[in-house]
Amino acid sequence: MGARTRVSRRKVMAATAALLFVPMTKATAEERGAPADDGLNLRHHAVNLNYRPESDTLAGVTTIVGTATRKLSSFDLNFLLTVTSVSVNNEPAAFTSRNGKLTITPKKPIAGDLLVVVRYRDTPGKYPGGVGRGWGWKRTPTGALAVAAAPSWYPTAFDQGDKATLDVSIVVPTGLQAVSNGALQYGGPLPVPGGDQWSWRGEVAQSSGLSLLAIGQYDLRTSTGPDGKQVVTAYGKDLGALDAPARASVERTPEIVLALSNWFGPYPYAALGGVVDKAFFNVVATTTRPIYDGDYFQGGANASMVAHENAHQWYGNAVNPVDQWLSEGFASYAEFLWSELEGLGTATELAQYYYDQFPAGHEAWAQPPANPDPESNLAFPIYTRGALALQALRTKVGDETFVRILRTWVTDQKTEAATTAEFVEHAERVAGTGLTDVFQPWIYAAERPAVGPNGPAVARYAAKPKSYDTITGNRDRLASSQH
Ligand SMILES: [Zn+2]
Repeated sequence: MGARTRVSRRKVMAATAALLFVPMTKATAEERGAPADDGLNLRHHAVNLNYRPESDTLAGVTTIVGTATRKLSSFDLNFLLTVTSVSVNNEPAAFTSRNGKLTITPKKPIAGDLLVVVRYRDTPGKYPGGVGRGWGWKRTPTGALAVAAAPSWYPTAFDQGDKATLDVSIVVPTGLQAVSNGALQYGGPLPVPGGDQWSWRGEVAQSSGLSLLAIGQYDLRTSTGPDGKQVVTAYGKDLGALDAPARASVERTPEIVLALSNWFGPYPYAALGGVVDKAFFNVVATTTRPIYDGDYFQGGANASMVAHENAHQWYGNAVNPVDQWLSEGFASYAEFLWSELEGLGTATELAQYYYDQFPAGHEAWAQPPANPDPESNLAFPIYTRGALALQALRTKVGDETFVRILRTWVTDQKTEAATTAEFVEHAERVAGTGLTDVFQPWIYAAERPAVGPNGPAVARYAAKPKSYDTITGNRDRLASSQH
């Protein structure tokens, strides 16, 4: 493939990533034309579905519990499918649907407690993904996938960063499995007329932008993880030679989550696991349960990627940042920490080796993590340099304060869309000192920091850390879609 083609494809992918991920922020909701304050605070979605893969027919009833934060004569939900009826606070309500916007007009204006019931029936595969729609509803050889694509299967607020709990119950033909976010209920499927009913409960509020529904032929494994939390992993039955390396990676999720929680603090959700499906084409840290394209294990086991995706449960999900280095720099740093535990190179060695790769004046340093040109290749600035910035912070404040900064960044999170300025302020408050000499060169400057991530006294490392190629390879694949 020629260089020109590569560049243009990279630009397209960078643009796609921006489109797919920024929608979770309030700023983009405004840019998209949704009101800055929609007057809605949704707390819970109870989604009941019946899906027939052969005809791609989805019938559903979603019950939403929330609050109208001011008097509303009508309100909008983000939903693509054909609606058959709506009620608001147990009264039938008028509604119109257009281009993914469901406008609901109650009999009389409402304020305060809100109970919305939406009934619908449609063939979701006909709606493409896009802004605010994630990857859309994707039919697969044995079922369907909806990754970060809530409007394809349940109505929710336009502001996808606005967190709510999610319970999903779905009937699929016997012999298929249906996997969602949260914990599997009743120990498995319940036989009901028309097939098997799979029920999942998400006790902790999550972004609707990171919901998951995976229907197909999977081998499900259920076990108990750290703090007694339920672990459910699912492997497509058609993985073939990819099955073993996928399991050698994703089955280590409980061990990896436990290791990460020693750094980042308690795992923020009530369940964990993963889905591996070769009908998907990406890796996404959907809440509680990342989904991995089986092809990502073509090169063999890759526990480092599992560490990356599960780090996003803290940084990317529990904390939902505007600036992507606050997700990707942290998740890449988790790969450094995991490498150290595996004896494949320490975080210090990795950070130094990356720093030494590019001299001052090299174009790699031209894009600062805090505000890079979105048209540029973001792999190094957001992922690697973001991780190096954390190593520089650790060098400056010491391990104990560094861990306190990371943990309280999650537990003290008050905004739905965290910014770099908030992180800097947070770190300085926890450290009790100004940190301009770390953040200015590492996060804001469009040049190589004069002092390396381990401080001025550290010499170059001659030997490449063993995990370097894996972590760099993960970065370059994940950076094409920012996961
Ligand atoms: Zn990532």
